[in-house]
Amino acid sequence: MVVGASLAGMRAAESLRSEGFAGELAVVGAEGHLPYDRPPLSKQFLQGTWDRARIALRSEERLGALGLDLRLGAVAADLDPVGHLVHLSDGDELAYDGLVVATGAAPRTLPGSEGLTWVHVLRTLDDAESLRSAFAQGAQRMVVVGAGFIGSEVASSCRAMGMDVTVVEALEVPLSGVLGEQMGRVCADLHQENGVELVTGVGVVGFEEPEVGSRRIRLSDGRLLPADVAVVGIGVTPATSWLEGSGLEVANGVHCDGRLFAAPDVVVAGDVANWLDEATGDRVRIEHWTNAAEQGVLAGRNLLSGSSDAAPYDAVPYFWSDVYGSKIQVLGRPGPDDQVVVVHGSTGEKRFVALYERRGRLSGVLGFSSPRQVMSMRAQLVSQARFDEALAAFT
Ligand code: FAD
Ligand code: NAP
Repeated sequence: MVVGASLAGMRAAESLRSEGFAGELAVVGAEGHLPYDRPPLSKQFLQGTWDRARIALRSEERLGALGLDLRLGAVAADLDPVGHLVHLSDGDELAYDGLVVATGAAPRTLPGSEGLTWVHVLRTLDDAESLRSAFAQGAQRMVVVGAGFIGSEVASSCRAMGMDVTVVEALEVPLSGVLGEQMGRVCADLHQENGVELVTGVGVVGFEEPEVGSRRIRLSDGRLLPADVAVVGIGVTPATSWLEGSGLEVANGVHCDGRLFAAPDVVVAGDVANWLDEATGDRVRIEHWTNAAEQGVLAGRNLLSGSSDAAPYDAVPYFWSDVYGSKIQVLGRPGPDDQVVVVHGSTGEKRFVALYERRGRLSGVLGFSSPRQVMSMRAQLVSQARFDEALAAFT
């Protein structure tokens, strides 16, 4: 059985089938929609250039060929690993021989935003449709809280639609916790060059509607930002509440080993997985598309082979973001305190490649609109190349 009918869960189901599992395969998903892809929700779908059909994860024909017991709109409420049962919130219970946990993550919210129809989060198709209907009603002033990935992509999409956009970020430098200060400043410039007002080092303390139709956001420094609509993108929390009391170890996701096993018959994949990196001994959780896709495939395969024959998860992390016409790509695990060397292009032109160095090794690669050059460094990350070797190899 698979719990979570999105990217990681569907890749696990496909992998179970392609590896020869012909038995009953239930896939339980809380959302009522057929599985869809999330990245376009903040990009083409939000801008209205792609429709629902375009974001389907798989065609209905391909889904049908998998022979799944696809239970959409069904929420797993509780796991009994001893009895091998998943209890659903509607009272149904499903037995399993093997279980894939792929329940992803849910957006954090800000206190005071509850029940306000003009303050949105963006995680699901329903969230994106709700935002689109606010745009269709003529929203012009957008305030985005959080200059992480959701915030940056929503800001970019709203600017492409001609809206006035203000982004509020608690950090002094956006994305500095991920890419470091130097490259975070390049991201800040990108917003400003594209007409976004960027307010940093400030928190949001309230959402106010002093009279009907008048909406504003109060900042910790006392400023008031008028808004028609707001999006809060301040990170996510792994969706693990249904596993409380199950005996699985849950802390910042579901703990699993380097082969994705949380128990002998339970594997974990995607945003919810907190796995042990066998090479470094670190616990890792990644919230990006490629990780969910690759872990889903491996989780299905490993569940079928059993833990003694399972392969470790050792993929080189990768993610991308499309903002203001730039393709930002990150390979490896750059750290905020790593040394950064620009080896191609120029940050001013927003077309460049930067290599990250940690303890004498190449730790990550960041590219702006330089896909060929970024991908050419993958082999250096796989081989954990020394930084001087990586520099010499860059062409
Ligand atoms: P999810 O996609 O979160 O799916 C988990 C599923 O499990 C959900 O459908 C949820 O409803 C369901 N579920 C949760 N709890 C239960 C339960 N108890 N019972 C049943 N079902 C349950 N990554 C990139 O690398 N590049 C991008 O450009 C990019 N763009 C993105 C844009 C947006 C708007 C968003 C939201 C994310 C984006 N990401 C991007 C991140 C990427 O989409 C996620 O990493 C990926 O979706 C994770 O897949 P997942 O299957 O692990 O989890
Ligand atoms: P995120 O990338 O974690 O960024 C959240 C940002 O909001 C951080 O910079 C955070 O700063 C800041 N923040 C936190 N609390 C705040 C507050 N009270 N006021 C103002 N700013 C605040 O999360 P996200 O952008 O919400 O994205 C949600 C998930 O979707 C993530 O898993 C992300 O990876 C995924 N996603 C990925 C992509 C992509 O890969 N292209 C695109 C969209 C979404 P601190 O770091 O200081 O907390």
